[in-house]
Amino acid sequence: MNEKDFPEEKMEDTAAGSSLAGNKKKEEDEYEKICYVCRRPENVTGPMVSMPGGMNLCHDCMQKAFDSVSQGGFDITKIQNMPYMNLNLSDLGSINKKDLEIPNKQRVKKRSEKEPGQELKRKDIPAPHVIRRKLDDYVIGQEQAKKVISVAVYNHYKRVYLTDSRKKDEEENVQIEKSNILMIGPTGSGKTYLVKTLARLLDVPLAIADATSLTEAGYIGDDIESVVSKLLTAADNDVDKAERGIIFIDEIDKIAKKKSTSSRDVSGESVQQELLKLLEGSTVEVPVGSNQKNALTPMTAVSTENILFICGGAFPDLEDIIKERLKEKSSIGFSAELKDRYEKDPNILSHVTNEDLRKFGMIPEFLGRLPITVTLESLDKDLLVRVLKEPKNAILKQYKRLLELDEVNLVFEDEALEWIAEEALKKKTGARALRAIIENFMLDIMYEVPKDPNIGSVVITRAYLDKNGGPLIQMRC
Ligand code: ADP
Repeated sequence: MNEKDFPEEKMEDTAAGSSLAGNKKKEEDEYEKICYVCRRPENVTGPMVSMPGGMNLCHDCMQKAFDSVSQGGFDITKIQNMPYMNLNLSDLGSINKKDLEIPNKQRVKKRSEKEPGQELKRKDIPAPHVIRRKLDDYVIGQEQAKKVISVAVYNHYKRVYLTDSRKKDEEENVQIEKSNILMIGPTGSGKTYLVKTLARLLDVPLAIADATSLTEAGYIGDDIESVVSKLLTAADNDVDKAERGIIFIDEIDKIAKKKSTSSRDVSGESVQQELLKLLEGSTVEVPVGSNQKNALTPMTAVSTENILFICGGAFPDLEDIIKERLKEKSSIGFSAELKDRYEKDPNILSHVTNEDLRKFGMIPEFLGRLPITVTLESLDKDLLVRVLKEPKNAILKQYKRLLELDEVNLVFEDEALEWIAEEALKKKTGARALRAIIENFMLDIMYEVPKDPNIGSVVITRAYLDKNGGPLIQMRC
């Protein structure tokens, strides 16, 4: 009963069986060989020497071994970082081969040869109205945000198509810049949900990271590259697929520059600085199958050139900064009436400018790499009611389906839905509060109803939720 329960569906508007993440490869032979000494994959080391027991050695490590022999003897068991070599090679026959294998989770898949026909095709990129229509099935309201995102994503994948097809003539043509997105909206307005839905319907891998856990390299916390490592895991260690994925960095407002900087700002400004190179596109070495770098973790190179970065945050106090600026402007020539209007505007975030974000503490270079700004509005009572019943995987639909299996018809009165939305508004966590509120009273229903096979329908009324009565129960005729 969560987002994972999305009904499986394909984009019927794209070519059958193909996806933006690239063609699926055959299971056999899909992983790269990894050197048992240095743990680098074959695409980095070049061809390897295969040894008994399925072990592989790269040219460099082989050379080092020969060099040490010529410098006066060689004891294979004394080589550092050679975890599986502390054994007698003649014993290999009796050793379980499984013990020697590096788990697939730590191995990258072989990269495709970019044969003609393998690259992203123009017709595989869904048009903005198609993306928008699909988003509409799940995300309620946020009309402007859905429109902006649909166009941004369409342009992003057109750019991927141009670089992917490596058209010679394109090099002289206009270079299209990355369209990374900054998403601003209150808690529970659907930022994460929008991105998850988008990745799902585009069929590209998605990694969600929390900016608060990121720190400058060398400090306790996750390195910046760990976000790319997560994406690689989401892409089943397929580098080609990961390189066309989406990375969502949540709580980006938490890495705003600190106002007083007496101590070193290891999780604020410096993290913004370090994110710059990822956002604009660079090749990073990331650990495979782990977010920690150590001698035993295989590493691989991933280019972030075609990865779409979406940074999201609630940006508390940003509204005050915007109002302040608008009021300052209006006090020059306009009336107090206008000031009042800004004060009451529920959608004040949509007036945000880069200047406001800079005041908030985001550095200009960082903002420069997120050229598209999208604002989401807080969900009011009507929208919350729609969130309850309209999305394809709406909570109410899920409960209805569950009771349908008991052949019981579950009905929610409109007033009951309003009651739920009002309760959610009180919690000030947007649509996030809805599920907990419903689960609270549905527990009793789900427990009691199966007891009596004669129950034909259950109507949830406002009076029941107000604890002024029970649900309306009708028996089968
Ligand atoms: P945030 O903006 O804090 O990232 P989320 O995207 O995590 O909020 O929203 C929490 C949950 O609320 C989602 O999983 C989704 O079920 C629901 N939700 C939020 N906004 C919407 C919306 N606009 N339409 C439909 N469901 C929504």
